[in-house]
Amino acid sequence: MKAVFSLFLDIIFPCSCVSCGDLVPSYRNYLCGRCQSQLKVAHNSCQICSGLLYNGRCLICSDRKFYPSKNISLFNYCDVSRAAVHSLKFEGIRGVHRVFIPYICERIGDFDRKIDIVASVPMNRDKYIKRGYNQSELLALGVSRKTGIEYAGILKERKNSAQQRSLNYSERFINVIDRYETVNNNKFRNKVILLIDDVFTTGATVNECSRKLILSGASRVFSITVVRSDLKKLENV
Ligand SMILES: [Zn+2]
Ligand SMILES: [Zn+2]
Repeated sequence: MKAVFSLFLDIIFPCSCVSCGDLVPSYRNYLCGRCQSQLKVAHNSCQICSGLLYNGRCLICSDRKFYPSKNISLFNYCDVSRAAVHSLKFEGIRGVHRVFIPYICERIGDFDRKIDIVASVPMNRDKYIKRGYNQSELLALGVSRKTGIEYAGILKERKNSAQQRSLNYSERFINVIDRYETVNNNKFRNKVILLIDDVFTTGATVNECSRKLILSGASRVFSITVVRSDLKKLENV
């Protein structure tokens, strides 16, 4: 019945691919097969943080303490990944997050520990009300549903924190200090956490969230981010 209903909806209100604009059936989650096949797995990556290596050197975790035991970024920044993340974050097309769930679930086995809890990078209340959802939370909830690993809300973003998008590399690290706080600490004490976020640029956000979780008793934090933005360009998606 559900299939018939969505077929009917697809005929009356077809969806468009967020990248090329072609009409797509709803089960494709706003990304056509051709565009999806252009998503490029992040390559030339640091084994710890998945940052792009420059002459074999990681500019993200070689000079700075990196709190997650390992971060995996799934895709390079390209026209398709940029369009998908942009539509998810800024155009209210929340359904596009479903494209990424299977890719995230596939990589969970790459960590050397069993994950106890899935969590997301939080969004403060004002931003949440404005956007209507937190895209990182949608991703983490989707992963939890597919894998059966418990999702827990264990981080909060303080009010009125400045946006990272307009800042340069060092400013981003300074700006995130104490931007997040942990909640429900009993849920994650001595547990292994998988933190999920959409974009990895300097790693400052994931790093600060992980620092807070570890200081508050998490045994380990791993993270998966959907897109790796080129640090040297600091392009904002
Ligand atoms: Zn397309
Ligand atoms: Zn690194």
